[in-house]
Amino acid sequence: MGAHTSPDRATDEDLLEAIVRKLDRGGSPDGKFPDHQGEHWALCPYHNDTHPTNFSASVRGFKCFACGRSGSVRELAQKLGVDPLRCFPARDVPHPSPWRATPPTSSSSCHS
Ligand SMILES: [Zn+2]
Repeated sequence: MGAHTSPDRATDEDLLEAIVRKLDRGGSPDGKFPDHQGEHWALCPYHNDTHPTNFSASVRGFKCFACGRSGSVRELAQKLGVDPLRCFPARDVPHPSPWRATPPTSSSSCHS
C-alpha cells in the first residue's frame, strides 16, 4: 500500500476490519461478506436481527434497512466495543458482545 499509518490511530479500514471480526454474519455468504461494493452484510447489532440481508457495513459507514439505524464506521466500532485508539487484539475479548448477552433460546416468557 505505501500509506503511512500512525501506530496509535486506527484508520476506518482498520476499524472495519475489527468490526467485521465482531459482526455476526448470521450465515451471510462469502459473496456478501463483503460484496462487490465492499459492504459486509451481517446481523444488525442494533436490533434483534435474524437475517443478514438488512444490515450492511463498509468503510463508508453502516446502515440497517430493518430498524433504520445508520452511522459512521466509528459509531459502529463503539457499539461493538472496538477501541479506535488501540491496537486490535486478534484474540477474543474477555467480555461478551452486547447483543449476545441474552441466550437466544430463552426468550420465551410463556412458562409459569
Ligand atoms: Zn437494525
